[in-house]
Amino acid sequence: MVVPFVFLHLALISLVWIPCTTTSLCLCAGLYFVRMFGITGAYHRYFAHRAYKTSRPFQFILAWIGSSSMQKGPLWWASHHRDHHRHSDTEIDPHSPHTTSFWWSHVGWILGNDYQQIVWKNIPDFKKYPELLWLDQFHWVPGLVTAAICYMIDGFSGLTWGFLLSTILLYHGTFTINSLCHLWGNRRFKTTDDSRNSLVLALVTLGEGWHNNHHHYQGSVNQGFYWWEIDISYCILLGMSKLGLVWDLRKPSERALNSCRLDNLSPSQAST
Ligand SMILES: [Zn+2]
Ligand SMILES: [Zn+2]
Repeated sequence: MVVPFVFLHLALISLVWIPCTTTSLCLCAGLYFVRMFGITGAYHRYFAHRAYKTSRPFQFILAWIGSSSMQKGPLWWASHHRDHHRHSDTEIDPHSPHTTSFWWSHVGWILGNDYQQIVWKNIPDFKKYPELLWLDQFHWVPGLVTAAICYMIDGFSGLTWGFLLSTILLYHGTFTINSLCHLWGNRRFKTTDDSRNSLVLALVTLGEGWHNNHHHYQGSVNQGFYWWEIDISYCILLGMSKLGLVWDLRKPSERALNSCRLDNLSPSQAST
């Protein structure tokens, strides 16, 4: 992971002499949006937390979109994320900025040797799908296919401004949830960790910035609990449920919304 990660960052230098086109900027924005949903709506809310249900073919499509973000496979991602919740902000949390460093929580843990393997005991529910095992082993394939499509659409501009730039932005956008969202923002719920809610990070990550809400009620498909807590991933999943692509979306109960509150906001104002 270190070599391709460093190489992709160094390759950003090429943006200096490769022309930026309207097509490549559209590719960049579109790929950031779709692949951020692949991490938030698929890897996180489906594979790590099973916050909704879907069919086996659509499960694979979700996994493919998540893998195209070049952030390793769905089973690897979900298995380590389940450890994050189990041990959040303790010494054995894979990426706590409190027990390690900001750098480690942001990117060090994903590059180091300690967490390269899937934690199989954490992910027994998805082990039975050979297509997911294949995708996890060859997790770089969807990213390479996406890069090739960008090249076919807009040449080197599509490859660099479209694919490369959106991939780098995507890395650091998603990584902020592990680093900044345990340091910066407000706390609504008393949790055993130091998770925070942040509108700015929720906008950057299509809804993941409501991280204190999420640590309070991990199984919820929506991480924004109020109408003003913008959660674009949830809106997309709602749309998919209307189309019959996903179903059984899990929402927090009134009791869950009312418990462990650190603020005085009326729970009746919560979105439904
Ligand atoms: Zn967290
Ligand atoms: Zn989570």
